[in-house]
Amino acid sequence: MKTLWCDNCQQANKAVEAIRTETYPVKGESIEIEGRFMVCSVCEEIVYYNEFEEKNLKTAYDKYRQQKGLLGPEDIVNIRKKYKLSQRGMAALLGWSPTTIARYEGGAIPSVANNEQLKRFASDFEYARQLYRKSHDKLNPLEARRAKSIFENSKSDEETVEDSVQWLSRFYNSKIEVFRGNQQFDIDTAACMIAFFCQQEKISKSKLMKLLFYADFHMYREHGKSISGLVYCHNHFGPIPLHHGMLLDCLLNLQTIKLEDIEGPYEGEYVVPLITCSDRNVFTEEEFNVLNEVWQHLGKYSAKDLSIISYKEDAYQKTALFQAIPYSFAYSLSAF
Ligand SMILES: [Zn+2]
Repeated sequence: MKTLWCDNCQQANKAVEAIRTETYPVKGESIEIEGRFMVCSVCEEIVYYNEFEEKNLKTAYDKYRQQKGLLGPEDIVNIRKKYKLSQRGMAALLGWSPTTIARYEGGAIPSVANNEQLKRFASDFEYARQLYRKSHDKLNPLEARRAKSIFENSKSDEETVEDSVQWLSRFYNSKIEVFRGNQQFDIDTAACMIAFFCQQEKISKSKLMKLLFYADFHMYREHGKSISGLVYCHNHFGPIPLHHGMLLDCLLNLQTIKLEDIEGPYEGEYVVPLITCSDRNVFTEEEFNVLNEVWQHLGKYSAKDLSIISYKEDAYQKTALFQAIPYSFAYSLSAF
């Protein structure tokens, strides 16, 4: 039995669980639901209990949606998956503000007009294609490529690439949050991070890997979230994304980067971006600032120097060879 505050009795009383029928206001209408509540054992009035309240509210929203034939969060995710669009990407094609889809997927109820537009977008491919043709320049570079293959339906080897991208995403996103820095891995974001660093000057693969590590961990330290959602591991020459070879392969196949041999005594390759990420829309302002800070502090070092710097990090010292590095080590970063 819990003790909860009762507004009616103006004191904390023992409260018991009960099933009651109640009405909730949703978008100006009263929606009646049967839900679990905590009731005061003295006066039998319902007392506020957060856990049940949230569930009941969700039930009320679901019921309202059903009554009005409105799309729910899962329906909207499915439409997005069908066209392989990001939340921002789909919002851009529909001509909505960047966060609209994210809000709907988070449980907000779409307006009737937006709901109709979404349904048409989902079921009428010609209409979806028209919207794509009108607004494809608002998509980020990688997403624009992918959308092109869907809406202009060309090439089937795009699908093979898509499969490895999906595999990689599933792999990273299957890790618990502390290993991907509370972030979902997203290949577009990773591609744009790489483009960001590689467009500053010619950068070798091994230098790039360290810059990615520092950018994701610095972002986590400052804002509690990594940028790319990549999982890093302790490797011979410092921290490096797990499956970095496959990651680069995907980006090569997606024609977002190419590799160039480094001439001279050292073996290695430069990563050259084939997309630009001048489009700041890809990143939030915080992410963009973090990327700039990392470049300002660490861009001047060689790959070898960066290795040596990274050896001193707890993230490296306190993990074993090939072990995944938890983002919690971000709080003791010492490079800058
Ligand atoms: Zn009471």
